[in-house]
Amino acid sequence: SSSNKPYQRILLKISGESFGKNNPFEMTWIHNIAEEIKQAHLANKEIGIVVGGGNIVRGSELIKHGIKRPIGDYMGMLATVINALALQDILSDLDVEAVIMTAREIEGVGEAYHYQNCLQHLNSGKVLIFAEGTGSPYFTTDTAAALKAAEIGAEVFFKATKVDGVFDKDPVTNPEARKFESLSYEDVLLNRYRVMDSTAIAFCLDNNLPILIFNLTKKGNFLRASLGENVGTVIKG
Ligand code: UDP
Repeated sequence: SSSNKPYQRILLKISGESFGKNNPFEMTWIHNIAEEIKQAHLANKEIGIVVGGGNIVRGSELIKHGIKRPIGDYMGMLATVINALALQDILSDLDVEAVIMTAREIEGVGEAYHYQNCLQHLNSGKVLIFAEGTGSPYFTTDTAAALKAAEIGAEVFFKATKVDGVFDKDPVTNPEARKFESLSYEDVLLNRYRVMDSTAIAFCLDNNLPILIFNLTKKGNFLRASLGENVGTVIKG
């Protein structure tokens, strides 16, 4: 696979389904994710992480149970806080100090998001975990990740998945599926590969923020990706 310049500051988006599927928490999965983060952290990478919440609550799915969309979305945002706490705890077991930042202060849990404080934490070698997404209903944590990547000045948006990148067909059900080395933002917007929502992609396009879709369940992949190796599919202009 091709190589780029190593990245120094990285925004990593981890979906809720990376934390658990049948159980909300598969502790071995979370442990493996924390190990990946530790490796890149030991290589002095500055890391911000946006966590999803889909393993616990997705706002749009609660509609069929009669919960109004904005309320379901606030429930979803709180689910991301639960995941952030789990990840922070496992990271601390591995001696990686992580700070949780939330859209609003949650005393004892999350600091209110504050730009200067973010940079200070990164400069002092702490990992940042952003929870509560954008803080607004109707958005996703992918959009939050794109926003935070731009705000903290990350050179790249790493989107972790369980497959090796973007394929022309679903690789899980089609063994002949072909992986793309790179795609343009327009390719993704027009062909509707299920990469992430169009709000997130459009934001990356407008801000010229490259995205790497890669498999976080393969050991060493996060470090390799942060060293500039194209371990998945790159989306750029
Ligand atoms: N959510 C929201 N605004 C945001 C981010 C998330 O309302 O800015 C809610 C929404 O209900 C979403 C849930 O939180 O379904 C969990 O986030 P997401 O679906 O992005 O998590 P993932 O799919 O990455 O696990």
